[in-house]
Amino acid sequence: MITYKAGKQPDSREYRLIFKNVDREGWDPSIDCYLRDGGYEDLKKALGMEPKAITEEVKKAGLRGRGGAGFPTGLKWTFIPPNNTKPVYLICNCDESEPGTFKDRYIVHQDPHQLVEGMVISCFAVGAKVAYIYIREEFPEAALILERAIQEAREKNFVGPNVLGSGFDVEIYVHRGAAAYICGEETGLIESLEGKRAYPRIKPPYFPAALGLYMCPTIVNNVESLCHVKHIVRMTGEEYAKLGVKNNTGTRILCVSGDVKKPGYFEVEVGKVTMRELLYDMCGGPKDGREFKAVIPGGSSAKILRCDEKFNLKNPDGTTRELSFWDIPMDFDSLAACGSMAGSGGVIVMDNTRKMSWVLNNLNTFYAHESCGQCTPCREGSMWMKKISDRIVAGEASPKDVATLESVAYQIDGRTICAFGEASSWPVEAIIAKFREELLADTNAANEAVPQNPETEAQ
Ligand code: NAD
Ligand code: SF4
Repeated sequence: MITYKAGKQPDSREYRLIFKNVDREGWDPSIDCYLRDGGYEDLKKALGMEPKAITEEVKKAGLRGRGGAGFPTGLKWTFIPPNNTKPVYLICNCDESEPGTFKDRYIVHQDPHQLVEGMVISCFAVGAKVAYIYIREEFPEAALILERAIQEAREKNFVGPNVLGSGFDVEIYVHRGAAAYICGEETGLIESLEGKRAYPRIKPPYFPAALGLYMCPTIVNNVESLCHVKHIVRMTGEEYAKLGVKNNTGTRILCVSGDVKKPGYFEVEVGKVTMRELLYDMCGGPKDGREFKAVIPGGSSAKILRCDEKFNLKNPDGTTRELSFWDIPMDFDSLAACGSMAGSGGVIVMDNTRKMSWVLNNLNTFYAHESCGQCTPCREGSMWMKKISDRIVAGEASPKDVATLESVAYQIDGRTICAFGEASSWPVEAIIAKFREELLADTNAANEAVPQNPETEAQ
């Protein structure tokens, strides 16, 4: 058993805030253990504050959503219409389904009361008396752990009517998901919670903060984001913002999988660790005899980066500077400037034994299976992309197919109801742009000579 404590870890680049109790000696997920460690003290502090003051602290902290989009959490909370007379809901998105992402389930398994405390504080801040934890169907053990934790919190009056005599009532329900990736898209999630098929809604007008669950203002936040709220209340927004770098504050959990010696999760100060430090110092480098080839830095929806890439970035004074892949700081803005995204923190690593046609096909198979089918470009396009990459992998594609695949991806991008369309097309666009020669080498150039269907040719 490894012993961790809060804060900067000795001999490591990790900084543990959310994961401070994970793998800790003598730690268990019961409320007794949590209370022995000062649990629910942040809730007591929050209940003594004005709800608006908590939102202000979250804004000062600069917390950005840890689910994938990196949208400022405090700002999202202020989107609840000021003259609202309807009930307000809080939803914790625990549908963690982005390939390469495995942090939220671990938080729930190891430290469920951290999430419950973060949720009660957040409910108090936004004026929600009812909250839901929408948990993916494939996490049955985590759902039981959460139900037990909520019951324990209710028995101690941290949840329920008149929380700790404050006059504030709140109830939290665990809702098991419908086992589909699209149930994690916030409006699809809301539809599913309402008992319907998880068809995403069009944003605008259906931004949940104004028109969410039962057409009432609804705040949807990721598990990790809600956990950060309790630490912000304890530390103050100003102190929290000293962690990380400008506009990319606090800590975040990176989940590293694939071709490294030591995969796993690593909580770091945002932007304080570079790609080199993460993959070599923390993950032990490539497997013996192999070399790093490419990385998807933020869950499967993020665009792939080549390990030999260089980027020309703009400085604030208008000049440019060159940044190598290895020097990219792991933060929202830097990864966006390099044409990808920090996303959900799922870092997928590929070495020189991986064929890019196989990687492409793997992603296309996933997205074709998970498209909800509501809009044509995504439903048809994701299936066509899979069929074409099936042919490439089988060595049955012509070089023309690579161009067709690219064209299909660009025709999905920006033409769909939800971000899933882009999520399915971005990996294709990026893999073709960066590994075109490798993909072409996997095609059968002789197929070019095969006569085309005259009807198709005529179109
Ligand atoms: P988004 O940028 O559309 O929205 C981000 C958040 O800000 C949402 O809550 C949205 O309601 C809110 N928002 C944005 N503009 C607003 C406005 N004008 N008014 C009110 N609210 C506004 O992104 P998204 O579609 O919510 O999320 C996409 C991301 O989700 C992707 O980057 C992907 O990485 C990630 N993702 C994560 C998982 C996972 O398992 N963690 C799964 C799938 C996708
Ligand atoms: Fe469904 Fe895809 Fe359209 Fe999103 S983009 S609504 S997943 S069909």
